[in-house]
Amino acid sequence: MNSNYDVAIIGGGPAGSTAAALLAQKGRRVVVLEREKFPRFHIGESLLPYSVATFDRLGVREKIEQIAVPKVGGEIATICGTRSVKFYFKDGFRLQHQRAYQVARSDFDKVLLDNAASRGAEVREETTVQSLDCDGDGVTLKVVGKNGATGEVRASYLLDCSGRNAVVGSRFKLKRAYAHLQKFSAYAHFENVPKIFEGDCNLTRLIRSEDHWFWMIAVNAERTSVGVVMDTSTFKQLRMTPEQVLERYLAEGEMRERMRGAVRVTPVYSTGDYSYRNTSLAGERWLLAGDAAGFIDPIFSTGVFLAILSGEQAADIFDKILTTPSARPALFRRYEKKMNRVMSMYLRFVTAWYRREFIEVFSNPTERFQLAPAINAVLAGNIGNSFAIWWRMQLFYFVLFMQRFVALCPRLTLIPKTEPT
Ligand SMILES: Cc1cc2nc3c(=O)[nH]c(=O)nc-3n(C[C@H](O)[C@H](O)[C@H](O)COP(=O)(O)OP(=O)(O)OC[C@H]3O[C@@H](n4cnc5c(N)ncnc54)[C@H](O)[C@@H]3O)c2cc1C
Repeated sequence: MNSNYDVAIIGGGPAGSTAAALLAQKGRRVVVLEREKFPRFHIGESLLPYSVATFDRLGVREKIEQIAVPKVGGEIATICGTRSVKFYFKDGFRLQHQRAYQVARSDFDKVLLDNAASRGAEVREETTVQSLDCDGDGVTLKVVGKNGATGEVRASYLLDCSGRNAVVGSRFKLKRAYAHLQKFSAYAHFENVPKIFEGDCNLTRLIRSEDHWFWMIAVNAERTSVGVVMDTSTFKQLRMTPEQVLERYLAEGEMRERMRGAVRVTPVYSTGDYSYRNTSLAGERWLLAGDAAGFIDPIFSTGVFLAILSGEQAADIFDKILTTPSARPALFRRYEKKMNRVMSMYLRFVTAWYRREFIEVFSNPTERFQLAPAINAVLAGNIGNSFAIWWRMQLFYFVLFMQRFVALCPRLTLIPKTEPT
């Protein structure tokens, strides 16, 4: 199993398959080592409009459209059913892309991984990376296949896209949890969810309660992904299985109405304590992309967007330094700086979401100063350094801060009309 590559990629999720396709397209020798056999279930089904340009570059937009539900915006509602705000990307501040997708990740990830293979990347599924060694010339990975056969892969550079497994981050002890985001989530797919579609298109729906929230994402014509997010400490106090927790919470307030008659068609999955970042995103011979670099929170659907963005950026950098190795230090530094900036930007936004003022201000959108369109643009994935967006976001945070002390927007109750039983 000994072999030599320009770049070895751990993980064939959106980050890994994006990078692999782009590198292979440039004629680089690239291998993807993926421990699962695709298609496989994965959470993370709502995408952002700013990924669409990368789908075009990858040449997969048409294929994605065949499996996806078009997403044109979002809805944020309160659990007691008193407030609901819808926003549409077409109203976003100078938005270049006004549509995104909602997908079953099993189908979506397979489209991207097959695309990488068709462009010349070597894709090895059911191959787990067990350990790695870096030296001055490259990286050696120890891998094990489905039948237990072991081997080594040697590459000049490594891109870790192993998701929350974070192979490199764990090996070098780089992972740091966000102490204020210790969350737990339980989710499943349902059929017969009433009133989920808006014409042919859809909105990603978020329903906010006092100390937890729900998502509802139609992933195809039949299925809707539904999940609840709460503090890990709350989950532990409940002393229930994830299945019991999901059933209990879906019986409250607005969720009971929205799920009337819905039928669960998958097991209940759960995950927890998933919010962290690595202290370093670049080493001498490696870069981290996607969740392997860091994951913030499911709210605002930034996970796949950041995975695709970082996979794309990393591929471009590797392509350059394979031609000009001396450019590596500066390009790696730039990559790390950019990805840290974007993650910090969304971390601030996510942190704000978990305060009550957020929903009070957000559910009273104002066109004044084009504040609502600017927030809309950030939610669509506009991560540019645009001053026009930056100052509006600062104003938004200032309004949130003031709302703590003065009711600039009406106070809201987030207590459900029907308590869970
Ligand atoms: C509850 C929840 C809800 C979410 N909802 C959304 C959402 O609506 N929208 C959104 O954009 N994001 C969402 N996310 C985030 C999203 O799931 C991730 O950000 C996204 O999948 C990251 O892509 P990735 O390519 O970095 O990693 P992944 O998609 O996790 O892919 C990593 C791959 O690496 C493989 N792998 C791991 N270890 C090894 C190894 N040792 N050897 C070989 N292969 C390995 C895995 O099998 C996997 O296929 C959500 C996350 C959570 C926790």
